[in-house]
Amino acid sequence: MEATKTLELNVEEIRKDFPILHQKVEGRPLAYFDNAASTQKPQVVIDAISEYYQTINSNVHRGVHHLSQKATDAFEKGRSIVRKHLNAAQNHEIIFTKGVTDSINLVASSLGKGLIKEGDEIIISTLEHHSNIVPWQMLCQQTGAVLKVIPVNDAGELVQEEYEKLLSRKTKLVAVNHVSNALGTVNPIADMIAKAHAVGAWFLVDGAQSVPHMKVDVQALDADFYTFSSHKIFGPTGLGVLYGKESILEELPPYQGGGEMIAEVTFEKTTYAGLPHKFEAGTPHIEAGVVLGKALDYVNTIGLDRIAAYEKELLDYGTEQLRNNFSNIRFIGEAKEKASVISFLLGDIHPYDIGVLLDKMGIATRTGHHCTQPLMKHFGIPGTMRASFAFYNTKAEIDQMVEALAKAEMMLS
Ligand code: PMP
Repeated sequence: MEATKTLELNVEEIRKDFPILHQKVEGRPLAYFDNAASTQKPQVVIDAISEYYQTINSNVHRGVHHLSQKATDAFEKGRSIVRKHLNAAQNHEIIFTKGVTDSINLVASSLGKGLIKEGDEIIISTLEHHSNIVPWQMLCQQTGAVLKVIPVNDAGELVQEEYEKLLSRKTKLVAVNHVSNALGTVNPIADMIAKAHAVGAWFLVDGAQSVPHMKVDVQALDADFYTFSSHKIFGPTGLGVLYGKESILEELPPYQGGGEMIAEVTFEKTTYAGLPHKFEAGTPHIEAGVVLGKALDYVNTIGLDRIAAYEKELLDYGTEQLRNNFSNIRFIGEAKEKASVISFLLGDIHPYDIGVLLDKMGIATRTGHHCTQPLMKHFGIPGTMRASFAFYNTKAEIDQMVEALAKAEMMLS
């Protein structure tokens, strides 16, 4: 008990930092449980966006003038905060992208320029988001490489023995999420990376759902690539991060061509800039790079250990309340290691119908396939209701959801 106490969060104080949470929807207090899709922004982040445009807005890396240098310094400071946050060894191993989807497309597209050949194998898992499936499918179609898929068990955990069987010298890359957005499963990524390395394969971790909820150390994990999106960790939309090991990023050809990514251009030949600029063609999302740093500072002030402990409390409480109040509930995803996501179905009611009724009672949940259609197909369902928590959610909001669900169930059955 003592350990939990020192990790306690002052949620009421934290909620004051998030203006959007203090509104009514359909005359009821908003309970925002769609954090796996996107998180809300604290006032420091909102202010930092405005401050950027009021004080230093200009283009980066190219101007000799005062504002351009200020903007460049602030943007590169953002990169440096990201480096520290992931414990990457060097700033130039942090590439700014548009988001996880863009990061994965970057890697797949670059690999497709000569590094993957017919008969090579790429392994993904049944738990993947479409953005960690489709780019690899496209790469396989383009190159003749073969896509292999790690199966899941009934609890929504990856079957590690099957993963081991899929690995071979033909495996060039394994791409798996750290945490599943649809079920909340936390995958044993460190172990999986070590196994991929044992056959000489690279490992890309989709960290969209892990970085906002737990400490991630890319060096301790020995990840070759690790990616996350700013908007899921209380920062602006339209920005993502791709971490890559220096030696691998050096080996990869550029993704897109344009300004920023060149050393010298002639009509005969172009030479490319060094890292990270080689992968950052065009004017970047400057303001978001600056502000993501502020969002990460905010998260680190609260502390990811405390956030993880509190969110676990919410997960346990929510699961227990749902189990105790609904005899016909079916949880989809009951992994031993889970992040703060609850996916479920009530009897044979379509999740969409409940989602719409919950919205009328102020509760924002997600319904549908969560961009994981193959996973839903595996469970033989069209989709689920999903409540995903952040550290600003409360047990009272969970009670509000349980009450609303009971009403919705009565209306629909
Ligand atoms: N992977 C996972 C696990 C996700 O949850 C998401 C977003 N739902 C993505 C990838 C895609 O992220 P983005 O839309 O920010 O590119």
